[in-house]
Amino acid sequence: MFGSMEQLYIDRGMGRQIDLDEAASILKEAQESGLVTQPGTAQNPAGMCNCCGDCCGVLISIKEHPRPAELVCSNYFAMVDRELCAGCETCLERCQMEAIDMDEDNIAVVNRDRCIGCGLCVISCSTEAMRLVPKPQIEHMTPPATSAEQMRIIARNRGLI
Ligand code: SF4
Ligand code: SF4
Repeated sequence: MFGSMEQLYIDRGMGRQIDLDEAASILKEAQESGLVTQPGTAQNPAGMCNCCGDCCGVLISIKEHPRPAELVCSNYFAMVDRELCAGCETCLERCQMEAIDMDEDNIAVVNRDRCIGCGLCVISCSTEAMRLVPKPQIEHMTPPATSAEQMRIIARNRGLI
């Protein structure tokens, strides 16, 4: 949690303050464990979690959609260098969105409609065949400034305001 949300958790005894080094170390451990890092969709998010596609309500819901990429504010997607792919299938196991398949030549192929750009496949690819690339400019999204603005946009899209 960040900012006022962080303070709320501390005041109510639900959390403790950590420094940048500990935060970076937790993120590294989360990545190595295969968890998707999910900051709130805002330039100044109230929070950030690390989850898997088995038990996280958000990721489970996204995963059930035929095109998860449409639901996530990410300006990147994963791409495979066919020359470097060794066909080990590690990336298949790492991907929480089931976005990767092997083709008839045993080369990994990313389904862009399913890729949410989390990068978990990239850090686990020992041959550096997998990498994140920016989406074309026309597909770029700018997150709202704050989480409060994000909630207002969601409410507006639902016809609530
Ligand atoms: S982890 Fe890398 S080398 Fe292994 S299948 Fe995936 S892209 Fe290919
Ligand atoms: S970046 Fe890799 S692990 Fe993440 S959704 Fe895309 S293909 Fe799956």
